[in-house]
Amino acid sequence: MRKKEELLEEIRQEVERCTLCPLAKNRTQTVFGEGNPDALIMFIGEAPGEDEDRSGRPFVGKAGQLLTKILLSVGIQREEVYIANMVKCRPPGNRTPTLEEVEACFPYLEAQIAIVNPSIIVTLGSVSTGYLLGTKEPMSKLRGQWFDWRGGKRIFPMFHPSFLLRHESRAPGSPKYLTWQDIQEVKRVYDLLRESTRRV
Ligand code: SF4
Repeated sequence: MRKKEELLEEIRQEVERCTLCPLAKNRTQTVFGEGNPDALIMFIGEAPGEDEDRSGRPFVGKAGQLLTKILLSVGIQREEVYIANMVKCRPPGNRTPTLEEVEACFPYLEAQIAIVNPSIIVTLGSVSTGYLLGTKEPMSKLRGQWFDWRGGKRIFPMFHPSFLLRHESRAPGSPKYLTWQDIQEVKRVYDLLRESTRRV
């Protein structure tokens, strides 16, 4: 059987050549995603920003640094998890990707999910949450809850780190406060899973 790394690399190369949607025009490079190919948790954001477009890596700008901090706050190393976005090319001016762009790119993410096969998918923000769960409900209603997805996987929506950067308050009920609770819930279930599967 072929290794997960090889399968992911094959798709990464396909993404690199992709011109399926208009976002191909303005990108510096594609941002495929990265992390542990055996991860139990996959984090799925929205789209690459300027720093990601420049570096070719997901979540490396300010929002990415905050995501890393959120993970570390409960003892999760970035290298343990897999991180990707709904679309692999930067939308001009960091606008929200259109539904057409998300749909065009989704087969790549689907393939990443199939190969890595995480038990938990943490959707960051409304684009990935809304698309994967097929809902237009606001994040304030969806975050912090578990949803079954495609038989066997569980989705846990959290606020996008860039949203947290725009809402600095840590007061009870604030997005940052709620995110602190959410990541602890993710860690709780992650620990249980690690115990039962002995995967990292
Ligand atoms: Fe292809 Fe996705 Fe980039 Fe669109 S965003 S060009 S579908 S890789």
